This record gives sequence, C-alpha cells and structure tokens, in this order.
Amino acid sequence: MAEVSSTNSGLRLAGKVAIVAGGASGIGKETVHVFAEQGARMVVIANIQDEELGKQVAESIGIHKCTYIHCDVVDEDQVKNLVQSTVDTYGHVDIMFSNAGIASPSDQTVLEFDISQADHLFSINVRGMALCVKHAARAMVKGQVRGSIVCTASVAGSHGSFKITDYVMSKHAIIGLMGSASIQLAKHGIRVNCVSPSGLATPLTCKVLDAGPETVELIYSEKKRLEGVILNTKHIADAVLFLASKDFDFVTGLDLRVDGSYIAGKYELVL
Ligand code: NAD
Repeated sequence: MAEVSSTNSGLRLAGKVAIVAGGASGIGKETVHVFAEQGARMVVIANIQDEELGKQVAESIGIHKCTYIHCDVVDEDQVKNLVQSTVDTYGHVDIMFSNAGIASPSDQTVLEFDISQADHLFSINVRGMALCVKHAARAMVKGQVRGSIVCTASVAGSHGSFKITDYVMSKHAIIGLMGSASIQLAKHGIRVNCVSPSGLATPLTCKVLDAGPETVELIYSEKKRLEGVILNTKHIADAVLFLASKDFDFVTGLDLRVDGSYIAGKYELVL
C-alpha cells in the first residue's frame, strides 16, 4: 500500500531505487536526503571512509528508505557486489549517482608531477567512477530499466589549473566517460549526464583548504560572479535530482554546470 501511494504522490523519484556512491558526506549526503524526500523507494549509500557516518545518514532517513553498504569504488568486485545486492534486494537499479571522489592532497604542477599521487587520485576519481557507471549500466540493460546515471565532474573538467593538474585531468576524463556512455547507452533508453559544481564548502574542500565551512565559503565567494547566493550542497543535489528524474527525460550527454557563471566568466571577451 505504501508503495502505491508513493508512486501516485507526484514526487519526482516516486518508487525509484537509487545508489549514491560517496553518499556519506558532502554533495552525496545531501543528494541522499533529496532523493529520499522526493519519494525514492530505496537509496543505497555506497562509501568507504566514513562507515559510521554512512550508517548515521541511513538511520536518519529510516532503514526502510535508506541503507548503507561499505564499498570501495576502486575495487571492481565490491562495485559489482554493490549493484548486484541492490538488484537482488530491491529488484532493480533506476538511478546511479557516481559521485565518490577525492581532491589532490598537494599541489601538482606539470614540472613536479608526482605520478604515485596521480595514480591514487585517478584510481578513485576515474577508475572508481567508471566502475560505478559500468555496473549500473549493465544491471539497467539486463533488467531493461530506462535508468539515469549521473556523474559528478567539476568545472575543473573544462578548464586548466595552475596547481591541481591531476584533479583537472581526472575531471576531464569524467566528461569523456559521460559523453561516450551517453552515446553507447542511448539505444537502451539509459541517460547519462554530469553535474559540474564550482567550489563549495564540503568536508573535501575544508580539508584541502585547511579551514572551516564558513571560511571556505568566503574563499569561494570571492571568486564567484553571481551575487546574492552562495553555492551549497542543496544546489548540487537539486541539479542531480533533475538529471535523475523524468523532468529531464530527453536530456542525455549533458555536462550541467552549477557554477554561477564561473566558467562563462573565464572567457569574457575584452571588447
Ligand atoms: P566529500 O569528501 O564530502 O565526499 C566525497 C565522498 O566520497 C566521501 O564520503 C568519501 O568517503 C567518498 N569516497 C572517497 N573515496 C572513496 C572510495 N574509494 N570508495 C567509496 N567512496 C569513496 O566531498 P564532496 O565535495 O562532496 O565531493 C563529492 C564529489 O564532488 C567529488 O567527486 C568531488 O570531486 C566533486 N566536486 C566537489 C567540489 C567541491 O567544491 N566540493 C567541486 C566540484 C566537484
């Protein structure tokens, strides 16, 4: 009965089964809440580092609507198991939000490029992201689900940087992954898109900038163009919701920048 009322509720994700990789904190955690509020039948949080945090997020939403699975996205067996156990328990996967990622732990200029650091970063930001896309897509094809896959890229996926070369490279790769997957999966009715935030305060940026959320917000505010609003995790989660929902039913292959014109401003004509 509960499911029937949920699918008739007009909520954007009524009855859907979603996986959120990296859903224990920051953008992922906010998206878990938004998915649940919008009627998702089950949201599966997949995360590695914040096991207690992941469980707390799931419990705060309710064990009948949200669950936590320990999963290192770098490990293909674990990602395969994450998707398979979701299908076995909840019937299918409608939405994959492939969002797990890390920042460059220290500056990476081309002249001083530390390949071990880059390998580690690529293993999560590129390999892990691709594995989540691969196994969700396979389950959707097999289950004949017209699903939606959303990857978190970044404004770093479409321009260069003076310092964080490895991170910029990794996010460019996600735009390529999304574009290729969107073409290949279109014949199955599966949509693949990216959300690309500019800088915002999350545990990731607080750690990199070694500052609290308010200071991090101030730092990014000084670089932004759009007045009267500060980018937060809810803005990104709402963008992911639209990409995942029927509202964007004909949208695939899109890199949706949520950046207050940060990128557009980079290319302002001097006229
Ligand atoms: P965050 O650190 O709060 O969230 C990232 C999550 O990924 C964490 O919960 C972490 O435990 C998880 N994770 C890391 N490695 C993992 C692994 N191997 N397996 C499973 N989970 C793993 O940071 P966030 O800012 O919310 O980052 C989310 C995504 O957004 C990342 O891909 C990041 O690159 C991207 N992004 C962030 C910003 C920003 O300014 N915060 C801007 C653009 C893009």
